[in-house]
Amino acid sequence: METLKIVGGWIVTQNHNREILKADILVEDGKIASIGEVGQADNMIDASGCVIIPGLINLHTHISMTLMRGIADDVHLDDFLKRTFEVDARRTREDVRLGSELGAIEMLKGGTTSFLDLYYFQDEIAKAVETSGMRGFLGWAVLDEQFTTQKGNPVDNAASFIAEHKGKDRIYPLPAPQGVYVCGEETLRRTQELATKEDTLTHMHLSETRPEVYEHQKKTGKRPVHWLDDIGFLSDRLIAAHCGWVTINEVRAIAQKGARVAHCPVSNMKLATGGVAPLPEMFDNNVIVGLGTDGSSSNNGLDMFGEMKTCALLHKAHRWDATVLPAQKVLDMATIDGARALKMDLELGSIEAGKKADLAIIDLRAANTTPSVAENLISHLVYSCQAGNVRDVLVDGKLIMQGRNIRMLDEKAVLEEAQKVGEELIRG
Ligand SMILES: [Zn+2]
Repeated sequence: METLKIVGGWIVTQNHNREILKADILVEDGKIASIGEVGQADNMIDASGCVIIPGLINLHTHISMTLMRGIADDVHLDDFLKRTFEVDARRTREDVRLGSELGAIEMLKGGTTSFLDLYYFQDEIAKAVETSGMRGFLGWAVLDEQFTTQKGNPVDNAASFIAEHKGKDRIYPLPAPQGVYVCGEETLRRTQELATKEDTLTHMHLSETRPEVYEHQKKTGKRPVHWLDDIGFLSDRLIAAHCGWVTINEVRAIAQKGARVAHCPVSNMKLATGGVAPLPEMFDNNVIVGLGTDGSSSNNGLDMFGEMKTCALLHKAHRWDATVLPAQKVLDMATIDGARALKMDLELGSIEAGKKADLAIIDLRAANTTPSVAENLISHLVYSCQAGNVRDVLVDGKLIMQGRNIRMLDEKAVLEEAQKVGEELIRG
């Protein structure tokens, strides 16, 4: 196995002490072998003037919806969903794969190496994970049969998908209920049984909007989080996206059961869902919270740098308190806390010997990041950097973007095809 060393850069380790080091990294066998002064290696990356960070983790998205970018902007949520479902119903397996390749390129160009997805046809998305070199946590969408366009029962489909993809390189399959509004108790019980049997995570939209919460309360007498707790679905397997409309008692229930939250500030603000996830209270109760972009029809991009900045700003503005959500905490959400949410913090989320070499190298020799000194690196990463500053990306120690060139996919061909197919999809 060839060795690689990355020399001359600043390392934002995101280790326990959040150390920032001026040191070299030795990569061997897909892992970080050592940090410090490293000896000879077969290959070398010069990271002078750059900062090396753990690859960013997008904790909630629908990667293949890139082809639906810009289809329903500036409309009320009802109209947004109507338009989204209408286009979604016309999608083919082929364009789900194509949209995922486009999404993978977009994410890699923004330093994202891992993502958690919720969609159908995850077997097609898995192909894009394989061909792009990214790391995908792929949640097969689960709904009650009466609400789905999937052939067969969605829980059975999720089970087949998991059986087929479990243990594959860089692919982590799981079942992902769409939300309490389309998943009854029986569906969720079966999903939980499946996740327990296969020892996977579960992923779900939860308490995103006020109507969702109130309608569920009307139907069951319980708010969604408490209801999920009652039926045994609220557990440390669950990563719940949004949680913008939760009470402090629901936050405590989430904490007590060890469920995790994927916060999606841009999507929530763009769709004007109103509720702001109570992050300070979640942190007070030791809830693990990561950061997600959500899909391209509600964001409209997959840029985690934009997401980090928006996250910090939203909470500061909302609380009238500039000390809320400091840059370091926001960077944690996009790296180590995302890894903790995925139960992968022994392997991902920080730059430490023994962990997988999932890394992004960001060139700070740009107008928008000058001047850079050790003291403002974290601030730059959250408030100043843009996707365009990312130069190289490694996953499992493999250089999959070099000098902004995507190495495993044919970027030009994917973009041309996505333009053509996307145009047809949007125009109907
Ligand atoms: Zn979503």
